[in-house]
Amino acid sequence: MKTSSAEPPPNTVITIATTFAKPLDESMHTRLQKEMNDLLDDGVLSLQWRSLDAGPVRDSFAHLVVANFIGDCVPSFDDPSRHLAPVLGFTHVSDGRIIPFLEINCDHVAALLGDGHTGATRAQRIEFMSRALAHVLAHELFHVLMESGGHSRFGLAKSHMTRGDLVDGSLVFEKDDLSRLKAKLTGANVVLSAQKSGAQHDCERCDPKKGSER
Ligand SMILES: [Zn+2]
Repeated sequence: MKTSSAEPPPNTVITIATTFAKPLDESMHTRLQKEMNDLLDDGVLSLQWRSLDAGPVRDSFAHLVVANFIGDCVPSFDDPSRHLAPVLGFTHVSDGRIIPFLEINCDHVAALLGDGHTGATRAQRIEFMSRALAHVLAHELFHVLMESGGHSRFGLAKSHMTRGDLVDGSLVFEKDDLSRLKAKLTGANVVLSAQKSGAQHDCERCDPKKGSER
């Protein structure tokens, strides 16, 4: 949804540093990034991606969020053992504040989708999972970037997603939410660095309770 080929202002670039418990194949990776770009890259906001699976990332970023994907992100949809509790993603909280580390539970996303899509082909699974993971990631990213556990009534920032919402290609952020996000992002410019393990935040101090969930 880019409307301009000009370089975005540096403070509207959101860097997503990912780790995957089970490596994604290239097609899934590409699809996930495309889904996220469709949701957030509007010519003002811009996403860039880094992988922490290849080693530490040390650089200067305006807005860096570390996203851990746990479980199997390209699963079969018809494994009954996958019928798990539906906590799809959450942000970490430390000292009462949301910090830029979030987790997406691919097994739980797959369990929710699988109930309605048994027998889906691999291509369909990639399509559904990519969109669903992008929706969960975008939702949690919004919490992190806004430094708030608050929700909106509609759109991707609402508190509860149905199975249909997860794969609904027309579900986007409300215009007001995107405006608030842009205003928030352009107000600060911080330098962070992160790596896959032993990240610079102290995991033992992360509140295991979910900062947000859906
Ligand atoms: Zn939430």
